Amino acid sequence: MKLHEFQAKDIFKKSGIPIPNGQLVTAVDQATNVAQIINGPPWMIKAQVHAGGRGKGGGVKMAHSPDEVVASVEALLHKPLVTKQTGPDGVIVNQVLIEEGVEIDRELYLSMVVDRSTAMPTMIFSQAGGMEIEEVAAKSPELVLKEYIEPSVGWMPYQARNLIYGLDLPPSPEAIKGLESVMANVYKLFMSLDCSLVEINPLVITKEMKVIAVDAKISIDENALFRQKELLELDDPREKDPLELMAEEYRLSYIRLDGNIGAMVNGAGLAMATMDVIKLAGAEPANFLDVGGGASEEMITRGFEIILKDKRVKAILINIFGGILRCDVLARGVLAAAKKSSIQVPLIVRLEGTNVEEGREILKNSELEFLVARDLAEAAELVSKQVL
Ligand code: GDP
Ligand code: MN
Repeated sequence: MKLHEFQAKDIFKKSGIPIPNGQLVTAVDQATNVAQIINGPPWMIKAQVHAGGRGKGGGVKMAHSPDEVVASVEALLHKPLVTKQTGPDGVIVNQVLIEEGVEIDRELYLSMVVDRSTAMPTMIFSQAGGMEIEEVAAKSPELVLKEYIEPSVGWMPYQARNLIYGLDLPPSPEAIKGLESVMANVYKLFMSLDCSLVEINPLVITKEMKVIAVDAKISIDENALFRQKELLELDDPREKDPLELMAEEYRLSYIRLDGNIGAMVNGAGLAMATMDVIKLAGAEPANFLDVGGGASEEMITRGFEIILKDKRVKAILINIFGGILRCDVLARGVLAAAKKSSIQVPLIVRLEGTNVEEGREILKNSELEFLVARDLAEAAELVSKQVL
């Protein structure tokens, strides 16, 4: 679950990580007063959307007068913002953060994630702040410093020194203290809130040698939300893909992708394998959809509806191994969903397992046209014929 910058900064403040003073506005007329409460000039006007890359996309503006603050808010609020991460249509900006501008001396990068290969929380630190870290990692990996943290030991002060003295140019003693404190607090909050990501880019050293988090990004591990109930209200469904939101409501594991072959599969492993098969056949999957081992007819219906709502889908591959989920249940679910919506695209079905004959019979006797594949290889062949 992604948080907005202003929400992440609230958490930073409570965790002892310095942030610029700021105020969130949701209407243009709120912006007139804010310039009197928040120190400036300059002020920073920042679109609150989950996508990154706002700076380059025009979603972060600097204002030098109260009039400019209002004008900048007006330019952002309730309008679409296009960044590298939003797609060409952009996302609507519902909230804008107004902050006191910070005088930047150095921009650093700091984040914490769980490293997959070591299965350890990992602090990532770089002197190349303010830029895209992926790019830095690709072009100059030596600038990306890492410290792995043994959870039973926790964050150790020497690790902060490892990172800080790994910079080409060590900061002043005061800034070093600030950095050490931010690092320790990032680890603490990462662990206590079950984060999957905490990222500060840029982490700024000011001309007065203060260390301030000018940007803030936090993602919470959704599997831990059952014990992070107070964070649930920070969820902003407006930021989500409408189809993914629908899937969430029906408790389906669905991720929208860029291709045009819709896929409905049971089991995450089979779903991954099916996506591979689609790719090997020369096509691209439009989604990941795992209806789950114990899917009911209702869930199948919902899953199918979601795939059909995706206008990019040119063909649908249904690949089900009937174990707990029986093939006849699946077939009835598909038919029920198909009745509700007019299907304009070819359906390729590969069924195997419990009650498979009954399932195939149900599909065959329906008015819908199915291409029934005997195995996965044939299913892939049929898929590629639809798109190539
Ligand atoms: P992002 O592009 O979505 O990551 O948004 P950021 O919050 O990181 O802002 C983009 C860039 O704007 C930063 O890398 C800074 O260079 C600049 N910026 C943000 N806040 C301030 C500020 O208070 N003062 C100055 N001088 N620059 C800022
Ligand atoms: Mn940033």
